[in-house]
Amino acid sequence: MTDTWIDFSHTYEEGMPEAYGHTQMRAQRVNNANTGSRITNITFNSHCGTHIDAPYHYVEGGRTIDSFSPAFFHGIAAILNLTKAEFQPITRQDLHRNRHLISNADFVFIRTGWEEKWSLDEYMWKYPYISSEAAEYLTEFNIRMVGTDTMSPDPSFKSGLRKGSPAHMALLPKDILIIENLTGMKSVTDKVVEAFCFPLKFSKGDGSPTRIVGRFQE
Ligand SMILES: [Zn+2]
Repeated sequence: MTDTWIDFSHTYEEGMPEAYGHTQMRAQRVNNANTGSRITNITFNSHCGTHIDAPYHYVEGGRTIDSFSPAFFHGIAAILNLTKAEFQPITRQDLHRNRHLISNADFVFIRTGWEEKWSLDEYMWKYPYISSEAAEYLTEFNIRMVGTDTMSPDPSFKSGLRKGSPAHMALLPKDILIIENLTGMKSVTDKVVEAFCFPLKFSKGDGSPTRIVGRFQE
């Protein structure tokens, strides 16, 4: 038996897609004249690239990213294979078909196939989303996080489909955290993997870029 590791995070780099209205990530190499070493001044918002949303992102008085223990971010992830076209909802029925996989998991990672559009403009606003009924259904399971290979579980504000934030508001008030912009799931769909998802420990953080990694034995 050998361990196989999977990288579920995109690379952080200038020019990567950002959610509607968010500032662009900047990475400026600067020299430290005193030591001759290279360092980089990095500017990014707390929801850039592959990242976790803490409840406080949408919930007044909700828990912040630094308030969760490391154990919260380690667990079993069910990788669902739900291929979707642009603007198409992930439905309660889609999830119900996968209920046995979800029942065995701490985290639910949904692959819609949108991860392959990361470099295209449409990635930022035409992505599939989780219907409000589907998001409510997820709260019936004993899970701690829900992730997608899209910018958000709710439609983009630019799409004309956004009415409030029903998926965020079904999950975050129940302390079910959200992972956005997952990738690399194609080889492990319909499986469960051990997942490691440790965010940066920002004081009173509403979210954080996160290296999401999976491991399984074969
Ligand atoms: Zn976010």
